[in-house]
Amino acid sequence: MTTPTASAAGRRQSWISILSIPLFALTLWTYGGAVQAAEPGKDAAAAGLPRILVLATGGTIAGQADPRATGAYKSGQITGEQLMASVPGLDKLAKINAEQISSIGSQDMNDKVWFALARRIQDAFDKNEADGIIITHGTDTLEETAFFLDNVVRGDKPVVIVGSMRPATAVSADGPGNLYEAVQVAADPRARGRGVMAVLNDKIQGARSVTKTNTTSIETFGSPNDGPIGYVDTAGGIRFMTQGAGFKRATYRLPAGEQLPRVAIVYSHANMDAVPIEDAISHGAKGIVLAGVGDGNTSKSALDALEAAAKKGIIVVRSTRVRSGFVTRNVEVDDDKNGFVVSEDLNPQKARVLTQLLIAGGVTAPAELQKAFTATW
Ligand code: ASP
Repeated sequence: MTTPTASAAGRRQSWISILSIPLFALTLWTYGGAVQAAEPGKDAAAAGLPRILVLATGGTIAGQADPRATGAYKSGQITGEQLMASVPGLDKLAKINAEQISSIGSQDMNDKVWFALARRIQDAFDKNEADGIIITHGTDTLEETAFFLDNVVRGDKPVVIVGSMRPATAVSADGPGNLYEAVQVAADPRARGRGVMAVLNDKIQGARSVTKTNTTSIETFGSPNDGPIGYVDTAGGIRFMTQGAGFKRATYRLPAGEQLPRVAIVYSHANMDAVPIEDAISHGAKGIVLAGVGDGNTSKSALDALEAAAKKGIIVVRSTRVRSGFVTRNVEVDDDKNGFVVSEDLNPQKARVLTQLLIAGGVTAPAELQKAFTATW
């Protein structure tokens, strides 16, 4: 499989026994060729520890600060291998193999990286190379990647996505603790069948619900409608709040190629006109997700433009800019008449992902689309 930024040479198929030794020593040791190439999984299985495959994509968790600058840092500077090596005690939890998928801030996350992640995870599961997967990721679009993967990866082994709000070189960096907890969760058999989980700041949250709620605080990820699915800390271990998979996991086929159909998000506000909708259509949008006011509403002129778009075959999904709650059909807006779909609990950025997957899969009838959005309940 080819990955966007990492060539086959960049990916190490070596199971690394993670040692609590300084980052630089490990880096030198690694690049000095001391890491043994081994058949994935064999050594780990022999040691009786779960095999965890780490797929690194970049983000603040891999960021480094210039010590002379105040607060400024560059994300995606440290490799996944270096990251895992910097966390003491992981060798007691699991056998860890790290591969670099990309080295980007998640504001630049894109379809190409998503497809590479999805294919690599599926391959690792299908070939029984790992018992759990960890994705290291920037926090800005972490919830979108989690939701995308949750919808396309088949299998019930744990997939954990983790990031941090502070770079590795910050005072009180949150990355090491989050990584440790991510390994705890990914290595735990009770984490199976729960889909993709975000693990940050002692909480385990489901891919469908999790969202970033604060720009800079380490207490940023929340699940506004249903709360975390569990809690994790180094001393207390893992406490799941539900018995098993809370939601039915849909699995959509990963489209061929490396790109999802174009779906725009249009943000509603006071004094809203139809221009952003017309713009989206003129740029080839196959679907439009409305980040509506309140219960997914917008102005009369914007609604008229959306109705006209739906008549032309463009998929229109009403979501909301409000952080919690559900968008309900046919209350303030006549969805049946207009041919609209409502996003239920999905925020605009996740509704966009599901719309893309559905369009890519040839699902375009509003009733069928609505079924997919409502499938969880
Ligand atoms: N901009 C960064 C990113 O998403 C922020 C972070 O990781 O916290 O990659």
